[in-house]
Amino acid sequence: ARKFFVGGNFKMNGTSQSIKEIVNNLNQAKLDPNVDVVISPPSLYLLLTRELLRSGLEVAAQNVYDKPNGAFTGEISISQLKDSSITWAILGHSERRTVLGESDEFVANKTKAAIDAGVGVILCCGESLEQREAGKTIDVVTTQLKAVADKVKDWSKIVVAYEPIWAIGTGKVATTEQAQEVHAALREWLKKDVSSEAAESTRILYGGSVNEKNCGELAKQPDIDGFLVGGASLKPAFVDIINAKL
Ligand code: 13P
Repeated sequence: ARKFFVGGNFKMNGTSQSIKEIVNNLNQAKLDPNVDVVISPPSLYLLLTRELLRSGLEVAAQNVYDKPNGAFTGEISISQLKDSSITWAILGHSERRTVLGESDEFVANKTKAAIDAGVGVILCCGESLEQREAGKTIDVVTTQLKAVADKVKDWSKIVVAYEPIWAIGTGKVATTEQAQEVHAALREWLKKDVSSEAAESTRILYGGSVNEKNCGELAKQPDIDGFLVGGASLKPAFVDIINAKL
């Protein structure tokens, strides 16, 4: 059985004060022990978060660069993450793909560098509304992941996050059927293009307007193994999403 996984992507939100409050709340909460919990503050607050967050809960960077060190102004490296006890990175988020112009290949290079160094990757994929309406959803998400599969053979430290762009920050959550359909297709693709073992064991998260009210039904779907939560991860209700299976 795949262990349920809930990530909190704070995006470019928070202050040292508000992040301390979120961490304190998680530290004191009664969390389902059968869930991996990973929170992802802006890079400026990674160390603070790691220092305050109780052990057993993990921290992810929202991005990382694929070179070990050097003249790359503004970037942080995988070895710097490891030096700071940051064990995960979110890569390929649609906001980085669309706002910052990251290509499938760039995302794949960064994923390879992280996995080679033993840093876990929450690998995001997802289609725009236009692509969905054109019937291209499965094609888009598998193309995004294939760029990674071409370079990375070991998927044991990759968690896939399916985040339809039209559902992110819009309050317009995918229906359970829409999400399950894409998750099942991604698992089929994993079986074909990576391995049956990867298809069995890779967690596939859903992201896009997840909240404490809609998480229960989504969590019941056979191919939904957790969530990547944006806005609601900044609120106390994040605890209810972590505990969606209880
Ligand atoms: P929201 O939960 O705010 O829709 O964001 C989802 C997301 O992009 C998580 O990475």
